[in-house]
Parts: sequence; structure tokens; C-alpha cells
Amino acid sequence: MMKRLLIFLCVLACAGGACSAATFRFYPYELKLRHSFNLAAMSRTVTPGVQVEITVDSITGYGEASMPPYLGESVQSVTDFLSRIDPDRLADPFAFEAIHAYMDSIAPGNYAAKAAVDIALHDLTGKMMRQPWYRIYGLDPSLAPCTSYTISNDTPDELERKLAEAEPYKILKVKMGVPGDRELIEWIRSRTDRPLCVDANQGWKTREEALDNILWLAGRNVIFVEQPMDKTDMEGHAWLKERSPLPIIADEAVHTSADVASLARSYDGINIKLMKCGGIHDAYRMAVIARSLGMKVMIGCMTETSCAVSAAAQLAPLADWVDLDGNLLISNDLFSGMTIVDGRVTLTPLPGIGVTPLHADGGEGLVE
Ligand code: MG
Repeated sequence: MMKRLLIFLCVLACAGGACSAATFRFYPYELKLRHSFNLAAMSRTVTPGVQVEITVDSITGYGEASMPPYLGESVQSVTDFLSRIDPDRLADPFAFEAIHAYMDSIAPGNYAAKAAVDIALHDLTGKMMRQPWYRIYGLDPSLAPCTSYTISNDTPDELERKLAEAEPYKILKVKMGVPGDRELIEWIRSRTDRPLCVDANQGWKTREEALDNILWLAGRNVIFVEQPMDKTDMEGHAWLKERSPLPIIADEAVHTSADVASLARSYDGINIKLMKCGGIHDAYRMAVIARSLGMKVMIGCMTETSCAVSAAAQLAPLADWVDLDGNLLISNDLFSGMTIVDGRVTLTPLPGIGVTPLHADGGEGLVE
């Protein structure tokens, strides 16, 4: 059983000049995957997470950190970071710039931990303003794209089951860069002509191998290819971008808004994820910078509950493509929120990030 860790911190919140008592709470919550997740580098069945709550005037904002191993964060590192936050510095939950500068002063990195606080602050302030964040940003929710749904390689029986589960989704996402990847594409193509997104997760070792794969994919109704080669290979990706008939999207190579401009020569677009950039505040900035550079915008997620996925979905109307299936891949969601209707990301009219807890105890009773 996972060691329980539950921390309450009381502060005075001074939103709009009126001071109120507030609480800052966080606890680990392990996400259970419906199916094992098989990537180029590893396979796993659970993802560690940490849930955050900030309450002011009986209004609670929910946030979440999800920590896939490749990002280098853990339950320990996230809870250590959150423990170092002085709750007094969260007293004005609208002060996003000041709070992010303060969190950056505590330690660099730790983006999942910072995202958890950022998401909770957005949920809280949206509820205080009684508006969902897509409306605060002036976005039209009907412009949110269809999400892709990931099918990772597996045994033939498991693949049949995964494809049946993927039936409601209009775009499929396939991981490549693993043995048997072309066979997987051919297998899917033998069963459906739905468009595919391909994510190589840095799995192709040379630019020639990457181009050969992309040329092969271009005749198979593929929309784009994500992170073909090592994230540090900027020249290789620039070479590939010049020759590729499909858009090349940066994922592992891009984290925050500070990275975007330097990637424009090597990539056609970026995959924005809240856990990489530290939350909605920087994610919006990334989308605006990418657009100003003529780059495509994709919004993705980790395996997350509907909390972090619904937070990312607030920006979905800004995106060319979205990959917001993280909550669909887990069996122990803590929230209802953004849903997929006819394959399309469908935002709730609820304020903040638009989520409702599924358990009165916030899920604490579910931690194992
Ligand atoms: Mg990716």
C-alpha cells in the first residue's frame, strides 16, 4: 500500500483586497492504466500522480501532477517541492506571474509540481469569476478539435480489444520506433481507414531511417509525425523537415515557452503539455508564440485524471490537433469534466477548469 501523505497548510488569502482563510492540500494518487502502455523506451501499467487542492472562501480549486518516468519527477520530488511552498505566497490566487516567479525561485524544473499548483489556481480563480477559462481567454469551444486515441503495440488479441475500444474516436495515434511498428500500422490499415497520428518518441536513430519511415507513412493517411529522433538533434530534424511530406511535431524537444522560437527551423509544430511547461499560464503563452512563428499547435497530455486533461482542454480551441485521451486510458478517474462527443473534445460550461469531483473525500479514500 502506498504510504499515505496528506498535507494541509492554512493561509490567509487576500483576493481583491479581502482576506480570507485558505487551505493548501496535496496527496499522492496512483493512476491505474486500463492497458499496459508500450513506448519505444519502456512499458508500464501505472503512473504516479499527486492531487492538489487550494480552498478559499469555501471555493476549492483542483490541480494535479502526473509524473511519467521519462520526465524525471516522482511522488517524492513533487511532494518535496510542494512542501517548500510558503502558503502565504499563494494568498492572491490571481497573481499567476508572481506565483510562478516564486515557484521558479524555489527550484528550477519540477514542472509537474508547478503545473499542479497552476491548475488549482486557474480552477479557483475561474470559479471566483464564475467563468470557464476558455471563455476568459475568449475562445470558441465549438472550435475544439477531435482528439486522437492512442493504440500501443500489443498481442493480437489485445490489439483487437484496443481497436474495439477506440471505435468512438475519429483519429488514432500509434507509437512507432519499436519492433514491429510497420506491422502495427499495416494491421490497423487492414481494419480501418481512419486518419493516424504517429509518435516515434525519439525511436528512429538516423535521419535516413526517419525519412524512409515518413515516406512510407505518407501513403497511409497519416496526419503528422511526432518527435522522430533524439530531442537534441536539431540539425537532423531541420534536415528532415526540409524533406518530409508530413508535418514534424516536437514533443520531447519542447518544454516551455522559452524553447519554442529556437525550434521553428527544425519542426513544423509543437506538442504542448501542462506537465512539461508548468501549467495553463505558460501553455497559453506557448500557443501564442507558436502561432506567431507560423507553427502548428498540438495540445497533449500525460496519463492523467480528468482534472489535468480538462485543464488542458480549456486551450483546445487554439489547437490544430489535440491528443487529450489521458483520462480515457485510466480506470480510476477522480473527476468528471471534459468529454469526447462524436470524437470531439467537448468542454463543460462549468467555471474554472470545468471539473466535478466524483468522490466526496476528493479521492483520498481511494489511495492504495
Ligand atoms: Mg509524444
